Amino acid sequence: MTKGERTMDRIRVLVWNENVEERRKPEILKHYPDGIHGALASVFGDEHDMVVSAATMDQAECGLTEEVLDQTDVVVWWSHHRFEDVPQDIVDRVKERVLAGMGLIVLHSAHFARVFQQLMGTSCNLKWRNVGESERLWVVSPSHPIVKGIGDYIDLPHEEMYGEPFDIPAPDELVFISWFKGGEVFRSGCCYVRGKGRIFYFRPGHETYPTYLNAKIQQVLRNAARWAASAVSGERRFGQQDPLEPL
Ligand code: ZN
Repeated sequence: MTKGERTMDRIRVLVWNENVEERRKPEILKHYPDGIHGALASVFGDEHDMVVSAATMDQAECGLTEEVLDQTDVVVWWSHHRFEDVPQDIVDRVKERVLAGMGLIVLHSAHFARVFQQLMGTSCNLKWRNVGESERLWVVSPSHPIVKGIGDYIDLPHEEMYGEPFDIPAPDELVFISWFKGGEVFRSGCCYVRGKGRIFYFRPGHETYPTYLNAKIQQVLRNAARWAASAVSGERRFGQQDPLEPL
C-alpha cells in the first residue's frame, strides 16, 4: 500500500479552519455554535460514504501533520484573516499532497490561502463589499457532478459580494456564476486539476451569514467532496524516452 492510499471505501474528509474569526466576531457563534469547522464537519458527518474530522490552525503543525494527511482524501479549507500564519513548509506539504492526488475544496475568503494562490500561480484577488445583499448562484454546467440535485440556481438572501475580475487562471470547468443585487457577477464555482489532484473553489460562506446551513450549499459541498476525492487516474511517464519507431 502506498502512502496515503485509502484503506476503505469511505471518503476521508478533513475540514480545516483558521478558527480566528470565531474569537474576533462572537456573532458567528449564533449560526455556528461549534465554529465554522463544526458547521462544515456536520455537512459531511451523516453521509454513509464519508468520514469527517476537523483541524484548526492553533493545533501543532496547524493540524496538518503528515500523519493526518496520510488519512485524508479531501481537505475542505476555510480561512480569512491570518493567511501568513500557515508556515511555508505546511503550505508546501499540502500542495504536494494535492499534486499527488488529494482533493482540495477552497471556500470563500480562502481565495487568499497561500496554498490556493501557489497552486493557481496568481494573486487570486477580487472585488468585495459586505452589506448583506442577496446572491444568486447560476448553474452553468448542469451535467457536472458538483451540481447534481441543485436545479438551475441557488438563492442566498444575505452574503458578502465578490466581484470580477477574479485574478485566477481560467478554470478547467466553471460550474457556477454568481450575480449580486448590487450588479456584480463572479465565477463562484471553479474546478481545476493540478498534477493528479482535483481542486474546487466555491465562493459563498462569509462568516457572519448562515450560508453553510443552506441545504443546497450543503449539497454542493458533499458533491464536491465526492468529485475531489478521487485522484486523476492514469499512469504518467516523464523524462527521456526511447523512440517507438526506428530512427
Ligand atoms: Zn467574507
